[in-house]
Amino acid sequence: MPVHSPATNYGGGRALPVHADLEDARADLASGLLIRIHLALLNMTEGQILRISSPLTEVTDQLRSFEAASGNALLSVMPDAARPGWSSHYLRKGGARTDWSDVTDAPDLISVATPDTARSIEQLMPTRLWLYTNYDCNLACDYCCVVAGPRADPRRLPAERIHALVDQAVASGMSEVFLTGGEPTLRPDLPELIEYVTDRLPLTLLTNAMLLRGPRWDRLRPLIAAGRPIAFQVSLDSATPERHDAHRGQGAHARALAGIRTLVEAGARVRLAASLPEAALDEIPELHLLADSLGIRADDRIFRPIALRGAASEGEPIRPEDVAPELTCDAQGWFWHPLSNDPDMRLDLPPDASMAAALEAVRGRLVEMISSHSARLDRFVCG
Ligand code: SF4
Repeated sequence: MPVHSPATNYGGGRALPVHADLEDARADLASGLLIRIHLALLNMTEGQILRISSPLTEVTDQLRSFEAASGNALLSVMPDAARPGWSSHYLRKGGARTDWSDVTDAPDLISVATPDTARSIEQLMPTRLWLYTNYDCNLACDYCCVVAGPRADPRRLPAERIHALVDQAVASGMSEVFLTGGEPTLRPDLPELIEYVTDRLPLTLLTNAMLLRGPRWDRLRPLIAAGRPIAFQVSLDSATPERHDAHRGQGAHARALAGIRTLVEAGARVRLAASLPEAALDEIPELHLLADSLGIRADDRIFRPIALRGAASEGEPIRPEDVAPELTCDAQGWFWHPLSNDPDMRLDLPPDASMAAALEAVRGRLVEMISSHSARLDRFVCG
C-alpha cells in the first residue's frame, strides 16, 4: 500500500496528509471493497487518513453509511483530477474529536453538547452573529483558521454592511455580536463600529491585543470607560511564551500579556481563549493560574482544540456537520460557522444575501444533516 504525503486537494487547497491509498475500478463495498477498507484501517493509527478511489458512484453513498456505522470520519469526496469519472474519498480513522469532556484532569475544558440527533432544529438555530471584519493581521500564526497575515487581502466588510447586519440581528432576535478577523483593531473605523454595535447588542471583539497603544488605544479606551457592553477575547495559547510564540511569532506572548493587562487596568472585561493540541492539555492548570493572576473571570476562559483548517497543518479535521451552526458573514458572503472560511463552511448564497436568507439556508442544511444521521453538531467554542 503506497504512502503519499501530502495531498493538496481538500478544503481551501491546504495539504491533507494521506497515509494509505486504496483503489478499485470494479468492487463496491458490497462486493469486496469493504473488507479491504477494514484491513487497511487495521494497519493505520487513529487520526490517519485513507484515500479510497473509485469510478463507482454508489461507493460515495456506501462510504457515508459506513462512516455513520463505523465512527470513521469521511472528511471529503473530491473528483480525481487524473482520472475523469473517478472520485477520491478521504476517510479518517476515528471520528473528528470535538468533545474533550472525557479528559478528567480538565473538567471545565470545553462546553460540548451531548450528540443527540433528536434535538430540535429550533434548539440548534444560531442566536449569535459573527462578522469577519477584515483579514489583514499584524501576525501570521501558523494555524490561523482563516490564513490571515500582514500581506493577506484585507477583504474588509464595509461599515454600511455591518450596520445593516447588526440591524437585522436585532430584528431577528439575535443575542450577541462577535467581531473577528484577521485583527479587527487594524480597522481605523473600529471605534465607530463598536459604538454602532454596542448601542444595540452586547459585543465580543476578538483580538491578539498587541496593538493597544497610541492613538488607536486613545480612541478605544473611552468606549471601555463609558461602560459599553463589550468583552475583549484575547488569544493566549500557553502560560509561558514557548508554545504560543512557536506558533504566533517571537515575542507575541509577552505582547499579548501586556495587552491583556492594559485592557484589565482600563476596566475592560477580558476573555482568554487558548487553542491547544491534545498533548498540551496538562498545561491548562497553569493557564488557570495565569488567568487568576490577570483577574480574568473563571467563566471567561475558553480552551479548545486546534482545528485542521486554514493554515493549520495539524489539528482536528472538523467537518461542518461536526459543529452546531453559528451564523457568520464576511465580505464574500455567509458561513456555517466561524471555525474557518474554507469553502465547505460557505452557505450557498449571494454575498449580499439577507440574514433571513442565511438563517433559512442554515435551517435547510440542518434538516439535511440530521436526516443523514452522520451529523454530530457539537458545540465548538470559538467564543
Ligand atoms: S490566528 Fe488570529 S492573530 Fe493569528 S494570524 Fe490569525 S487572525 Fe491573526
